[in-house]
Amino acid sequence: MSKKGIHTICTHVGELKDEQFKGAVSPLYMSTSYAYEGVEVKRYPRYFNTPNQEALSQKLAALEHTERALIFGSGMAAVSTTLMALLHKGDHVVLQHSLYGGTYNLVVEEFDKYGIEYSFTKGLAREDFESEIRENTRVIYVETPSNPLLKITDLSMVAELASEKILISVIDNTFASPVNQNPADLGIDIIIHSATKYLGGHSDILAGAVCGSEEHIDRIFQLAKNFGGSLSDYTVWLLERSIKTLGIRVKAQNRNARKLAKFLHKHEQVKQVYYPGLKSHPDHELAKAQMHGFGGMMSFELEEGMDTALFLKRLKLIKPSMSLAGVESTILSPAKTSHALLSEEERKRQGISDRLLRFSVGIENRKDLMADIEQALIACAAGSLKEC
Ligand SMILES: *Cc1c(COP(=O)(O)O)cnc(C)c1O
Repeated sequence: MSKKGIHTICTHVGELKDEQFKGAVSPLYMSTSYAYEGVEVKRYPRYFNTPNQEALSQKLAALEHTERALIFGSGMAAVSTTLMALLHKGDHVVLQHSLYGGTYNLVVEEFDKYGIEYSFTKGLAREDFESEIRENTRVIYVETPSNPLLKITDLSMVAELASEKILISVIDNTFASPVNQNPADLGIDIIIHSATKYLGGHSDILAGAVCGSEEHIDRIFQLAKNFGGSLSDYTVWLLERSIKTLGIRVKAQNRNARKLAKFLHKHEQVKQVYYPGLKSHPDHELAKAQMHGFGGMMSFELEEGMDTALFLKRLKLIKPSMSLAGVESTILSPAKTSHALLSEEERKRQGISDRLLRFSVGIENRKDLMADIEQALIACAAGSLKEC
């Protein structure tokens, strides 16, 4: 475990020395072919052991306070390889409800083929998880804060339950990032990231990561080398470059999000704000206890009668966009995108109204973001009156 501060880990841990020219940054080794005679390690990109892959893995393990890490070609490559490595035919996994859509699809579309059983919890309390555990359960899988309502799962509770029942606990830590939440410190075994989000941070890299103990990572590696989901070294190098600013980016996003959540919370044209940093959030105390920061993600619901589509159209600075966690602020309507395939009834049951918007707060100046929202709300309220 590294004792260095987060920004030092981001900047330096795992960096490769340029012995040849003494350059300041890690050299990039693009070889897909390495000598096999007289060497300790037989290197090949699909074995996850090129110099750049190994170097960045050290940084990720240091960030998540684990022994080891693997870098994947996407977040879903990390999720699927991890779950398939831990679960065999006849095994069962308990999954938290309200997971990332891609993870949900992986489970419901693929697991039957492999004879893997699964159940989703009804809520996030201990009894919701405990009541789903069967004799053949091997894994508990959670995601907190959740998408899009930013619900918080108690990680110490999950870790305790998993250790009592001898299960492996896995978290998708993408929304929090390692800056705001270190699940290994609370006893969670395996930590997954879509590095496409905060780790990459500039909306130009698709990647994933898995962090855990030597033993768990080795088990995942044994399948990973056969599934072949490794990341190209060029992108590994770009990701190292991105992570150097992870700490300062995420802290700036935390600060912006907290102020914007308060601003929206007070706004008369906003019905409700879902942000774990607000005292009004039902899991605020839990978030405070297990997170170092409340993150840059929030959702809010416009007041009844407000035209969401018009609001999105009137925004000038904040971009309506599918993904999240870039340095630029983006916003989307879950009912129109991530949750569009659910029936209206199911969306209602999950608390996702047509006026709900998921907001990924960037690093722009706060006053500019507030002004953008304010002008769009004014235009929208006036516009919808006219249109009525
Ligand atoms: C985006 C995302 C994923 C999937 O990652 P990809 O890099 O798109 O494959 C998984 N989990 C969460 C929470 C995400 O936001």
